[in-house]
Amino acid sequence: MLSKFERYPLTFGPTPIEPLKRLSAHLGGDIELYAKREDCNSGLAFGGNKLRKLEYIVPDAIKSGADTLVSIGGVQSNHTRMVAAVAAKIGMKCRLIQEAWVPHEDAVYDRVGNILLSRLMGAEAQLVDDGFDIGIRDSWKRAIAEVEAEGGKPYAIPAGASVHKYGGLGYVGFAEEVRAQEAEMGITFDYVVVCTVTGSTHAGMLVGFSADGRARNVIGIDASCTPAQTKAQVLDIAQNTAALVGAGDIVADDVVLMEDYAYPVYGVPSKETVEAIRLSARLEGMITDPVYEGKSMQGMIDLVKTGFFPKGSKVLYAHLGGAPAINGYSYTFRNG
Ligand SMILES: *Cc1c(COP(=O)(O)O)cnc(C)c1O
Repeated sequence: MLSKFERYPLTFGPTPIEPLKRLSAHLGGDIELYAKREDCNSGLAFGGNKLRKLEYIVPDAIKSGADTLVSIGGVQSNHTRMVAAVAAKIGMKCRLIQEAWVPHEDAVYDRVGNILLSRLMGAEAQLVDDGFDIGIRDSWKRAIAEVEAEGGKPYAIPAGASVHKYGGLGYVGFAEEVRAQEAEMGITFDYVVVCTVTGSTHAGMLVGFSADGRARNVIGIDASCTPAQTKAQVLDIAQNTAALVGAGDIVADDVVLMEDYAYPVYGVPSKETVEAIRLSARLEGMITDPVYEGKSMQGMIDLVKTGFFPKGSKVLYAHLGGAPAINGYSYTFRNG
């Protein structure tokens, strides 16, 4: 579906799929869990899902003649770290708006993890007070205008690289990659579990897996805690992406979003999220973060425990990255 689109390689290639044997056994052994390691997809500043999306956005940025990438996220945004890395790699400047999306006050929250790495890579990270919202923000528009006023040529990348014409393409490619790996491995996954916030990861998967009738087997785990907005954004991006690649239409019922795990609020882990992070670390040596992957891990574990997946199901956990943010939660994990 993607051959007509230009792609700027930022990743190593297909990401590995590995069985989570100890976690599967711990949960009773009736469900086979696997992980697709999108968190290990690149040598660019620890990688993650945003690179797959940016591979289809960068050619447009280069063609536009821009000299500065401008983007936005929370203080510990993985996405802005990835934009900073890409700017360094392609020789552009980088301006980042880091909003106060998370009511969390670890002593070094704005100095470690993602924001440390972004600063290290030369991005100009500006902290602003606005709260969480996955939509288009005024602070981001102001940053774009500022770059212009200073004589620069900005290229704007929205939060999560999601509400961008090409934002959904990367994860269409993910689905095609999984299909090829299934053929090689001689298995078929019954479900794919994915963490969903700004929506283009989930949306791209819907379009990619709709090709073999599996859109509804993509189980989104909401981590935004604003699920109505996230669900609407997933549908919108999926429909636009389907039209762009010439796939069949995606309808509202194709968007399966589990809303029970994002509490208490975006970016703050519940006791159950922290337990899921510890379990995955202690059984598999696989690090998940308190904002995103810890919540999808918690969701997947709960869905196994409550019998959502029929016995014998093979479930693929899309590990989308995000581990650097855990440094901003040092107090939570002070005793492990
Ligand atoms: C951005 C991100 C997500 C959510 O992806 P969206 O496309 O914004 O829905 C999940 N996990 C990690 C680690 C992320 O950085």
